[in-house]
Amino acid sequence: MLLVAPGARAGDTDAMTAVPQHVAACTQAASFRTVVDVGHGTQAPGAESARGVDEYVFNLRLAREIDKELRAAGFDKTVLLVTPDKPPRGLFKRVARANGLNPDLFLSVHHDSVPDRMMETWQVDGHDRHYNDRFPGHSIFVSNGNADRAGSLAFAKLLGLALKQHGLQYTPHYTEKFMGNRRRELLDPRAGVYRYDQLIVLKDTRMPAALMEAGSIVNRSEELLLATPEHQAIMAGAVVEAVDAFCVARANATPVAVATRKPDEPVAAKKHDGPKVAKKLDGPAATKKHDEPKAAKKLDGPKVAKGSDEARRKPGTGWLQKIFQ
Ligand SMILES: [Zn+2]
Repeated sequence: MLLVAPGARAGDTDAMTAVPQHVAACTQAASFRTVVDVGHGTQAPGAESARGVDEYVFNLRLAREIDKELRAAGFDKTVLLVTPDKPPRGLFKRVARANGLNPDLFLSVHHDSVPDRMMETWQVDGHDRHYNDRFPGHSIFVSNGNADRAGSLAFAKLLGLALKQHGLQYTPHYTEKFMGNRRRELLDPRAGVYRYDQLIVLKDTRMPAALMEAGSIVNRSEELLLATPEHQAIMAGAVVEAVDAFCVARANATPVAVATRKPDEPVAAKKHDGPKVAKKLDGPAATKKHDEPKAAKKLDGPKVAKGSDEARRKPGTGWLQKIFQ
């Protein structure tokens, strides 16, 4: 596995494509609701950057930019979700609030760190601070425990590819042995989508859900990059493109359901996402195979081109119809 050289950044600002104002192509944009979840909160602000800034500060700033850009593009129902409480209460609270909002999509915004044992120490303004310059780049996570795992993966792929298109590289280090219990299966090596089944905000949300680590704030150069409005605009622009593409795909898959939907009320399709159906999706027939690493790897292999998996690779076709059946 290729590791990025120490001091390297996720992307060179000069090489990145500027993001023009995005206007939603999705005809259902005005009723399509995305919950933009700000990772962590004031009571438990997450990781600490190489210069001693709380992760929550980075998360809130980027999530606000994403919220703003989604609205500007025509996604008027976007909700910025801020939860001050610390975990575990804060995690269950944000899931409950997200489910209560009945959204079409959930995106949790975070910034990455590394395990303590991998940190090095330097001095900033007379204080000891901790850093690791080895693993710049973003990463995206989905859970097979989510009630709409196909939708989650589809959105995560769109997001990863949109980030890639704007010159950003994901970090491959989550597949490495040295990550120990933080090691993850890479579900999509092109888009940088990893599997993280246990995450509460991904497995207990009843809509397609993904978590984005926008970059490493313990990486000394990437921390500076992530703090710039230019970089935040590029990331937010990529999120808007991905949300729009996902909205288009879902609208195409369910013209009737979406057209008749009253956005603020539970709809028939949403009822099917409830606990009963979610359990069915988790049942032996549907999910057992996918929960086993070997089987999950097979998903990417040529031999296992089952109808559903094959179809999932083609946005707007079979996999979307399957979700809404
Ligand atoms: Zn975090």
